[in-house]
Amino acid sequence: MNDLTAGNPPMALDLKGITKAYNRGSSAQVDVLRGVDLSLQPGEVVALVAPSGAGKSTLLHIAGLLDTPDAGSLSIAGQEVTGLGEGSRTRLRRRDIGFIYQFHHLLPEFTAAENIILPQLADGTRPKEAEQRARELLDLVGLSARAAHRPAELSGGEQQRVAFCRALANRPSVLLADEPTGNLDPGTSDQVFEVLMELVRSSGLAALIATHNLDLAARMDRMLRLEQGKLLQIS
Ligand code: ADP
Repeated sequence: MNDLTAGNPPMALDLKGITKAYNRGSSAQVDVLRGVDLSLQPGEVVALVAPSGAGKSTLLHIAGLLDTPDAGSLSIAGQEVTGLGEGSRTRLRRRDIGFIYQFHHLLPEFTAAENIILPQLADGTRPKEAEQRARELLDLVGLSARAAHRPAELSGGEQQRVAFCRALANRPSVLLADEPTGNLDPGTSDQVFEVLMELVRSSGLAALIATHNLDLAARMDRMLRLEQGKLLQIS
């Protein structure tokens, strides 16, 4: 019996036996992921810590359907991904996965509100509802007064808060974040991280957040370390 038939909510993210290798040059092969198992329950916030080059981005990209594993299975919000065509993968990514990068990647020619509205329109949300959702999210991160500003008119911390809103706009099941405050000075980083945690907790979504900052990692529900291609639980 699987989670769905048992009446339990499905895992937000479930990875089993994920492997990924890259060919480097003509001969050497780098085994980046050597059998990664990871289950995130709805509402669970998990830190991913790893030294540079350990394969953190590779893992986040596979979990976020931006890359495919060599072997293993992956499901998101109870939907098995293996074997899905590109169109279904894109829909699942748009609807169920929020991605936050170290750099905000907002569209420079659009306002803060428009950057949050656009992914919703792409997912078929009506313009009025999308505007309302953008307003609510900007309010949650304390940026109501900045809705009509373009990214260049915002500080680094503000840009990143808008990027959080954009990632959550379509109410995803899982949030994947790659060093979400790594580009900010330490004081701003702490404040912005606080905002992210409040947003994640109030949304009830599962989050996998890669960070080098062990103080921030210690504030999540558990901490995983990616080492030699495997995930180890360290707290
Ligand atoms: P991290 O995010 O932990 O710094 P990455 O996932 O970016 O690590 O990379 C893990 C390893 O895989 C590194 O040794 C990197 O050089 C290698 N790698 C990543 N992407 C590719 C690629 N497209 N082709 C070849 N090697 C790659």
